[in-house]
Amino acid sequence: MENLKENLNDQQLEAVTETEGYVRVIAGAGSGKTKALTQRYAYIVDALGINTSNILCVTFTNKAAQEMRKRVKKLVGTNSDLSYITTYHGFCVRVLREDINKIAYPKNFIIMDVEDQKTVLRQVYAERGLTSKVFTFKQVLRYISKQKSTQEYLRYILESKKQETDNEIEKIFRRYLEKQQRNFALDFDDLLNFTLYLFINNPDVLEKWQKRLHYIQVDETQDSSQKQFMLIELLSQYHKNLFVVGDPDQTIYEWRGAKPEILVDFDKQFPESKTIIMNQNYRSTPNILSLGNHIIKNNKIRVDKDMFTENPKGVDVVHFHAQNDYEEGLWVANEIKRLLSEENCTYSDVAILYRANHISRSIEQSLIRENIPYSVFGGIRFFERKEIKDVLAYLRLIQFEDDFSFLRIVNTPSRGLGKKFLESVAKIADQQNTSLYTALKDNLKHRELSRKGAIEFVQLIEKYKKEKIDFIVSDLVKAVMDESGLTSYYRTDGDTDRLDNIKELQNSIILLETQDEAPIDLMEYLQEIALYTDMDIEDDSNDRIKLMTIHTSKGLEFPFVFLCGFTEGILPSAMAIKERRAKAIEEERRLTYVAITRAEKAFYMTESEGYNFSLGTSKYPSRFLFEISDNYYVSKGELSQEIIKAAKAQLKSDTTQQLIQKKFEVGDIVHHQIWKEGKVIAVNDVKGEYQIEFLEIGKTKPITYEFKGLTKVEGSSE
Ligand code: ATP
Ligand code: MG
Repeated sequence: MENLKENLNDQQLEAVTETEGYVRVIAGAGSGKTKALTQRYAYIVDALGINTSNILCVTFTNKAAQEMRKRVKKLVGTNSDLSYITTYHGFCVRVLREDINKIAYPKNFIIMDVEDQKTVLRQVYAERGLTSKVFTFKQVLRYISKQKSTQEYLRYILESKKQETDNEIEKIFRRYLEKQQRNFALDFDDLLNFTLYLFINNPDVLEKWQKRLHYIQVDETQDSSQKQFMLIELLSQYHKNLFVVGDPDQTIYEWRGAKPEILVDFDKQFPESKTIIMNQNYRSTPNILSLGNHIIKNNKIRVDKDMFTENPKGVDVVHFHAQNDYEEGLWVANEIKRLLSEENCTYSDVAILYRANHISRSIEQSLIRENIPYSVFGGIRFFERKEIKDVLAYLRLIQFEDDFSFLRIVNTPSRGLGKKFLESVAKIADQQNTSLYTALKDNLKHRELSRKGAIEFVQLIEKYKKEKIDFIVSDLVKAVMDESGLTSYYRTDGDTDRLDNIKELQNSIILLETQDEAPIDLMEYLQEIALYTDMDIEDDSNDRIKLMTIHTSKGLEFPFVFLCGFTEGILPSAMAIKERRAKAIEEERRLTYVAITRAEKAFYMTESEGYNFSLGTSKYPSRFLFEISDNYYVSKGELSQEIIKAAKAQLKSDTTQQLIQKKFEVGDIVHHQIWKEGKVIAVNDVKGEYQIEFLEIGKTKPITYEFKGLTKVEGSSE
């Protein structure tokens, strides 16, 4: 049992042994919150003798849950049931599989992922004759999620309360709900809503679960939503043992409803609760830690924490500026090779993080080129994506007339050439011993093949077979995509991510062409690209570099971390910049902080010049890079004064920074454009808002720091 307390500092020890009541840990990245939570779990099992099926332990991602199960297994042995170490969604699935029949759904309901959601939307769009010009899937999915952020829609499905509507997006939503219901399919938002609905409407079921769960622990609490926390709080009401840990500086899901206030105001909600602060960082070198602290201090809405570490100083943080994204990828690959030969590390010690998925393209290309094994976590390798394979299949068919490419695109987009048609082509190809494409081309007059769609398809391919020499590859891609209908197919499809990826592919071809070497032709390009697409990815070794988004990396740690695409418009994202909301930029800064604090021994930030599609300007380094004083990192690559100047000029026009300043103090009398005079009675730096008592309406209202319609009545300070 003693080993459960080993290697813990005083605060961690307190967290582990304070098992009863409401307890909160607030501490910065790498301070051992998750370690304490894991050890505490083991302590409850081993020292208190509680069965693992009576302890609920919620973390944020599946990966984190897996990681925690692994760690706990080491501590408590392998025979215990660890399925209650899970995510919110995982827990809801458990509850619903046991009790959903109480609300007239079958226990074998289906769970939909985002791809399933899009499949349903595709059906709805087809039925209603909609295209992405009306709404993109992203917009609809966001709308669905928004509607599902309340429980109102449940009355529509579970209680058949139907009202008429003229609103198109609402109609799409309802059709989506009907299709879901018909298949007893629940999407991610439903899992939580159904569980809450079940508990609230079935007190006996709630009581059963409350009594079952003697201890509840929550990791990454800063990213819990109101509803998620409501579920936890509800469950804790019987035994009243709830342990929450988190770091408000790592809130990265505010856009999806995260409420860091839950953690910050925990002591107000539970006055009898205990708070434990940890401030020693065990993960990172002082260089990395101070960089993280230095960046996050620029956020106005936060409570300052003082972190220190006793770890050895380690190497400098490095910033690399590349002339283009090809060079950026290559530099990263070479640095990884250097680490492997000089630092005695393995591939799996290295992680590459990025803000946006499409950034992985240039990195993946260089890793493959340099023979560095890698896996993409929580995503699909760039060249495995459907849309990329479709585009390349057209090019391949033009060059090689191969069957794989033919089958892939003969009916993409749809030309009315279905299964029966293809069977006929295959039969003739067999008889004449030729490829499918040749069989079709040579037999267009054949009774079963003579279709309008088929004739046009062959004409298209033949045309570009002849004309391909006249084109540079990037123009060829564009022409073929437009003429084949692929462009409008992807444009009308609501899933605009696919168009972004295709743009990224075109972007990479243009880059190839603008490099000094001789222009490439289609054959050369396809040979080059075959390297990336025909790879046998299932090699046995688990020793690979890990590629993932910053969001996915939450709670994890790696000895060597590269943050790639540290570019304005990527991190911070174009959306955050365009919104012109200071709070959105602060969330992006927290993302940067999360990325930095994943690193143990070395941290690199890289970015490159080029064209920025999402902003429609040249690419410049991230504004966050300019926030870091020079003495926190060393610079490599050639970042010219011109670029720095242009980048700073662009930033100057951005006023979000000024918006978020706290302008008033407690006691100030202010004038509100509608409610007239009021008195500031409290300021909340975590939420970025004032509590103002308005005299005329006799009410106190929360007003955000960003609100412009508020001025100080001079001479009013106390
Ligand atoms: P994050 O906020 O990123 O989730 P965290 O606070 O959960 O970080 P952990 O992942 O628990 O931090 O710990 C960070 C690292 O420090 C881990 O490798 C952990 O094993 C190590 N560590 C934590 N506490 C101690 C300790 N008392 N002695 C030695 N190492 C420790
Ligand atoms: Mg953690």
